[in-house]
Parts: sequence; C-alpha cells; structure tokens
Amino acid sequence: TEKYEKGLEKTRKSFSDRLNELFANFRSVDEDFFDELEELLIGADVGFDTTLKITEALRQEVKLRNAKEQSEVQNAIIEKLVDLYEQGDTTKQAIKLNADGLTVILFVGVNGVGKTTTIGKLAHQYLQEGKKVMLAAGDTFRAGAIDQLVVWGERVGATVVRGKEGGDPAAVVFDAVKHAKEQQTDILLVDTAGRLQNKVHLMNELEKMKRVIEKEVPDGPHEVLLVLDATTGQNAMIQAKQFKETTDVTGIVLTKLDGTAKGGIVLAIRNELQIPVKLVGLGEGMDDLQVFDPNEYAYGLFA
Ligand code: GDP
Repeated sequence: TEKYEKGLEKTRKSFSDRLNELFANFRSVDEDFFDELEELLIGADVGFDTTLKITEALRQEVKLRNAKEQSEVQNAIIEKLVDLYEQGDTTKQAIKLNADGLTVILFVGVNGVGKTTTIGKLAHQYLQEGKKVMLAAGDTFRAGAIDQLVVWGERVGATVVRGKEGGDPAAVVFDAVKHAKEQQTDILLVDTAGRLQNKVHLMNELEKMKRVIEKEVPDGPHEVLLVLDATTGQNAMIQAKQFKETTDVTGIVLTKLDGTAKGGIVLAIRNELQIPVKLVGLGEGMDDLQVFDPNEYAYGLFA
C-alpha cells in the first residue's frame, strides 16, 4: 500500500539502496559478495546472529540451486528473508481476536516508545471496522499518561476507563473489563506502565492485571503486545529480551519505522526472540499503523 511504501521510505533509501547497489555491481556469488552482504545487513540493524543465519541459509540455497545469475541470487535472498520471518507460519501475523465476545489486548513497553499512540491508532482501526472499542488507562504511574490516553480516546471516539494517578492498575483493569462486558464492547485495549528499572515490581503488576483479565474473560488476555521503538536499534532488542523475561509477550509492535533508515531490526527481533512483529508504526497520525507483511517487506527491499 501507499502508506506502507511511504513509511518505509527511509529504510528503502539506505538499507534497500545498498542492497540494490550490491546487486547492481553483482559479478558472482563469491566470498566478497557474502562479506559485503553481511556488512550491509549488520549496518541495517539486522544484528550479528541473524545476519549469519541469513547468509548461511543463502549460501546453502545458492549451492542447492546452483544459482549464478544476479536475479537468481536476488530471488533466493528474498525467499530466505521471508522464510526466516515466517518460519513456516503466516497466520502468526494477525492479531488474535475473540470470535464471540470480548477481546482484551495488553500493551507493554517503556515510556516514549509509542504505546499510547499505538493504542489510539489501533482503536481507530477497529472503530473504522465497526467494532466497539474501549480503552483502559492502566499506566497510573507516569504523570500525564492517563490524560494522554483520554485525548486519544476523544480523538478516535472510544470510551476510556481511568482510575487515579498512582492508583492500582489492576483495579482499573477490573473496572474496565466490567464496563466492557456491560456495554458489549468488542475490544478492550489496556495501557500499562513500563518500569523496567524494577523488574520484579513490573512482573507482579502485569501478573496481577493478567489474573484479573483471566478470571473475567475466557482465554484473556488474547494478546500481550510489546511496543518497541525501531529508531533505538539494538537497544530495542535489549528491552525486548528484558520484557520477555518478565511476561509472555505474544507479539511486537515496532513503532517509528518511518524514522529509521535501517529497518533490519524487524528481522533481528523475529529471529532472536522468536516473537513475531505484528504491527508497525509508520507515522504519528491515527492512520499510520499497519499489519506487518513479511512478503511486502522483503520484496520491498528490492523494489
Ligand atoms: P508512550 O510513552 O510509549 O505512550 O509513547 P507515546 O505514544 O506518547 O509516543 C511518544 C512519541 O512518539 C510521540 O511524540 C508520538 O507521536 C511518537 N510516535 C509514536 N509512534 C510513532 C510512529 O510510528 N512514527 C513516528 N514518527 N512517531 C511516532
């Protein structure tokens, strides 16, 4: 789509330009070619381990197919990128929704990564699809977090359930679930505080919220989405590892992909964490959120 293309413009301009340059100067698939490819991938935030995995898979594929032509090698790399991403399962991309009844989605992540914005954007999408959406202001810790969510609620037209600043987030969640059920809400999006400095506290807080949801909503929470800022590169990877130790993350939202020229972090996350990137943020507006499409991404790099 056009939005997607525009959002990945920066990534395309450097990561993808360099890839295309490598293939434009292509002579043969020799060690120099692989060296340059490795350097290029690492430079695009793909990460060391993931880079080696990709180039190793490519080496085997090239051998297997006896690929010599530029176009054959290019197709092989696209295939390997998609393979690495999907690992045989394309259904993992979609947000899991409860077919009959309330869906609850928890959002975790440190301050500033774009959690509130993502909740607003996703609420907007579901509202546009005709679903009934409610927001829960579970980040009672950061000053201003509640107000910010209320602003998004007003902007997109979703009810926001809020408690007091400094109050118990699990109590807010309890209230929100109760209201959501009463009002036959389809989707409840829950904001949480992301205090990684105190992991035990964070873990307890998230577990408590989850218990409240599990008790009131069958199979809930249906997703625990970790929000990461793509512009922070390997720092985002570190955060992801820490959150993964704290709670069961079911998917990743990678925000600000429009603000990075690298974009390879998507591959690193998938490979190193075994968690799919489900949504990507491509701007600050309410329409700037897209389902991540590995095919579109891999082919887009060579467009
Ligand atoms: P939170 O603290 O995690 O809730 O982060 P916010 O939602 O307040 O977002 C922090 C800043 O990042 C805000 O200025 C947002 O407008 C901006 N932001 C969020 N997502 C995106 C995105 O996908 N692209 C860009 N360019 N900016 C974003």
